[in-house]
Amino acid sequence: MRVLLVEDEPTLRAQLRLSLQGAGYAVDEADNGRDAQHLGQTEPFDAVVLDLGLPQLDGLSVLQRWRAAGLAMPVLILTARDSWTDKVAGIDAGADDYLAKPFHVEELLARLRALIRRAQGIASPLLRCGGIALDTRSGRVSADGQAVALTAHEYRLLAYLMHRPGRVVSRTELTEHLYAQDFDRDSNTIEVFIGRLRRKLPAASIETVRGLGYRLDCPA
Ligand code: CA
Repeated sequence: MRVLLVEDEPTLRAQLRLSLQGAGYAVDEADNGRDAQHLGQTEPFDAVVLDLGLPQLDGLSVLQRWRAAGLAMPVLILTARDSWTDKVAGIDAGADDYLAKPFHVEELLARLRALIRRAQGIASPLLRCGGIALDTRSGRVSADGQAVALTAHEYRLLAYLMHRPGRVVSRTELTEHLYAQDFDRDSNTIEVFIGRLRRKLPAASIETVRGLGYRLDCPA
């Protein structure tokens, strides 16, 4: 999963970036509204954390432009404390959720998880596919009841697929959603990580769909 973090305050941005990365997300950052708008319109994100008070272009305008352009990614806005008018304006502009500063990062992470799964029509934070279980809260994965140890990249890849059970996902889509912009992307690495996941998961969990991509096969 790939998240865009838009926050102009350097210390808070650095803290949030580390927390998001620690939770398994690939993170792109913007410290002003213009860069944020551009990134959001040119790169695919699974969710956006958007501060409203930003230089160059305020967060509300960024959000309105994204929605006017038809972009539907989940957006969580950060508002000033006690500013109920910001919350109302943000939600009316197309925000999916909000947090008032200051907040606990655990709450931000929980809200993001909820936004990301709801965007895929999933209600529970515990994802299941056949014998595979992935707990988005703890980052723990098990197969047929046995704990499976995954690297950060393997987890990110599996989490993306587990949010889209039975759907064919192309290598390009995976590359775009698993790495931040500044990461040295090589679509061959996806194949390598798929191979590693296959060795750790029950046989035939990840199917190759020739010429199209991969599909997580979830027997009922
Ligand atoms: Ca700000």
